[in-house]
Amino acid sequence: MSLDHRHGNGDWTDDPRDLLRVGEGFDLAAFDRSATPGWGSGKTEARDHMTARGELMSELQERLFAEGRNGGSRSLLVVVQGLDTAGKGGVTRHVMSMVDPQGVALRSFGVPSAEERRHHYLWRIRRALPRPGLIGVFDRSHYEDVLVVRVDELVERDVWEKRYDEINRFEKSLIDAGTTVIKFALMVGYEEQGLRLMERLDRRDKHWKFSTNDLVTRSKWQAYQEAYQAVFSRTSTDAAPWYVLPADRKWYARLAITEIVVQTLLDMDPQWPRPRWREATQRTRLAATMSTASLAESLADTEEVVKGAIAENLQFEEAAAVAASLGDDDPVTKAEREAARVAAQAVRAEGIARLEAMREQKAELLDAREDAPAKPSKKKKGKGKGKGKK
Ligand code: ADP
Repeated sequence: MSLDHRHGNGDWTDDPRDLLRVGEGFDLAAFDRSATPGWGSGKTEARDHMTARGELMSELQERLFAEGRNGGSRSLLVVVQGLDTAGKGGVTRHVMSMVDPQGVALRSFGVPSAEERRHHYLWRIRRALPRPGLIGVFDRSHYEDVLVVRVDELVERDVWEKRYDEINRFEKSLIDAGTTVIKFALMVGYEEQGLRLMERLDRRDKHWKFSTNDLVTRSKWQAYQEAYQAVFSRTSTDAAPWYVLPADRKWYARLAITEIVVQTLLDMDPQWPRPRWREATQRTRLAATMSTASLAESLADTEEVVKGAIAENLQFEEAAAVAASLGDDDPVTKAEREAARVAAQAVRAEGIARLEAMREQKAELLDAREDAPAKPSKKKKGKGKGKGKK
């Protein structure tokens, strides 16, 4: 898609979705929690790449939001699970701070309140689902009802046993109604959790994060691992997959989640809504209310943008030509790269054509003015002149 061409996916050697998605025979006990699968470089590069991906995520989120405002029914639900100290808070903070706050709805699920306990366990979940156009983030979720509830035997076995299928059906119904569901589990190692809990004890500014209950939960480590394994084996569906993230390196977990969210949004391909008005008509109307100086300034800005777009296009093409002449790629890679180049070029050409049309219209509107400057595009006016008049 054009958006992805514009940004590229950094030092990922493989799509993290393929590497981290829970597949047939997934074995949590054998899962390396300190690995950084698929990332070809280190932490600094990861930070830089996250910034770039954040911009793309932000644009995609805005598109989704605009779609929702214009009658669209789609939304994205991101479920984040993990044991204490796994980094759920950091993920939600870092990843979600990259998008417009009005487009995300964050909900944390703790011990159910008295009112929540009176209802079915999915009641509070349903009430917190993202509305159309939003990205909903769940910090803990309905999965607690087959995790802590199972480990602590808060209900009978035959009650929680039925929940896996029920959760699958529930998520299927969300998907059918237009919500894309992705689920992340942050998996920290036992030793790393010990270190993180110790830091919470050592640092007074971290004391608020520590609960004596954390040590009780830690003592049930094995039972939790088994409960998580059951979650992964029984509720990772094609429609709503689980991604299990090694979380000993916080930067990796954040990077991978960012990438997977971005790729998911790219697949959703949210579209800017089609306006119910014609751009050129409205531009003429607006121009009629503007002074000649402002109109000239607007035209000059557009001319700059056109020039920039043409120069950028040239750069892309030169870079593509260089890439094509390098290396002895296999023919499939070459063909794919060529197809991507052609697709990207078509998108850029369309963008440039639109800009040209815009420039032309503005030039005509300006020409029609009696007090139009003789040659507005060529004549370099003193910078202060036009601006000062605003
Ligand atoms: P956190 O520990 O994530 O910072 P809280 O202090 O609010 O957040 O703790 C959440 C606690 O609520 C966890 O111990 C979790 O197991 C518990 N919890 C969440 N959902 C349920 C549930 N459905 N039943 C019982 N306990 C739950």
